[in-house]
Amino acid sequence: MTEIEQRRLAVSAALAGRKVDALLVSAPSNVRYLTGYTGSNGLVLATSSGTDFFTDPRYGLDATHTITCKVHVAKGPLLDAAAKLIKRKKLKKVGFEPAWMNVGEHQKLKEKLPLGVSLVPTGGIVEELRAVKSPAEIEQIRKSVQVNSEAYNRTIKRIRIGMRELDVAAELDFQMRMLGAEKPAFDTIVAAGDRTALPHAHPTGRRLAANDLLLIDMGAFVDGYASDMTRMSFLGNPSRKIRIFYKAVLEAQLAATAEVRAGASTIRVDGAAREVLKRHELERQFVHSTGHGLGLEIHEGPRIARKEKTKLRAGMVITIEPGAYVEGLGGIRIEDTVLVTEHGCEVLTPTSKEFVSI
Ligand code: ZN
Ligand code: ZN
Repeated sequence: MTEIEQRRLAVSAALAGRKVDALLVSAPSNVRYLTGYTGSNGLVLATSSGTDFFTDPRYGLDATHTITCKVHVAKGPLLDAAAKLIKRKKLKKVGFEPAWMNVGEHQKLKEKLPLGVSLVPTGGIVEELRAVKSPAEIEQIRKSVQVNSEAYNRTIKRIRIGMRELDVAAELDFQMRMLGAEKPAFDTIVAAGDRTALPHAHPTGRRLAANDLLLIDMGAFVDGYASDMTRMSFLGNPSRKIRIFYKAVLEAQLAATAEVRAGASTIRVDGAAREVLKRHELERQFVHSTGHGLGLEIHEGPRIARKEKTKLRAGMVITIEPGAYVEGLGGIRIEDTVLVTEHGCEVLTPTSKEFVSI
């Protein structure tokens, strides 16, 4: 049995626990996870006895050749075709993914279904499975991380004073694609100087100048799997103040990473970063969470954040990315992609965390 077939079995087995006869899967990455389909119009209906996949004629030929569950090529809206099948199979309680079905779709589907069929919000079944990666998926993420870091290495060598943030971002994206990425996993973040104090700065026409801090946060999609890394560098020789600032964030990043292991609660990992930053009086400048899972999406479960009490499991791949943002001085974030293992973790990101001068 293929890995994809095993995933479908796992979904079928999870339905009873949620008290539904079927699950309509419309989230594109969940559809991809269960079928391998990468197009833009796919829908899955999973029941305890099997899985049906719906797409339109543009993808029909490809889908019938590559997808191993039953494929329906629908001429009209996919939800109409799914409604017909629900009726034919006499399903009564049909789960749907509330985050991925809008009110209009829900209404239309309801109208097409016979009376007595109820639609039950049933989120998270596929996401739960996706959170723990298989060995094959871990290999994909490793590849993605390698491509991402190599694109960073190549770009760093080309960075010169006078370049715009946009030029640096374009070079990173170009190198990533040359190395085999489909696309960046998110809009590449390049921020220089005081703009580093904006945690999610989008690159602008600002030109790099001497004594600028430089923040690069980048990720690649390689064969569908994401990577995510943030590194800091400095154009010139950083002042003592900046070096101390950098060391504090690095200490927080290492402290959080040291807490990562199967069985550890995500709140503990987040707390470890916060405690260090508190000691350096930077706690209030740490305005986001410590990390997130990644895989087919750049942000997926688990969240490594305050108030999040998910138990880490071996095979989860998460980021550890504390940061602190000080108006007038700048912002520093350091981020690795990390694999949770039974007794600790493996930092997948190979790029050094040394604070480099350009
Ligand atoms: Zn990032
Ligand atoms: Zn991230």
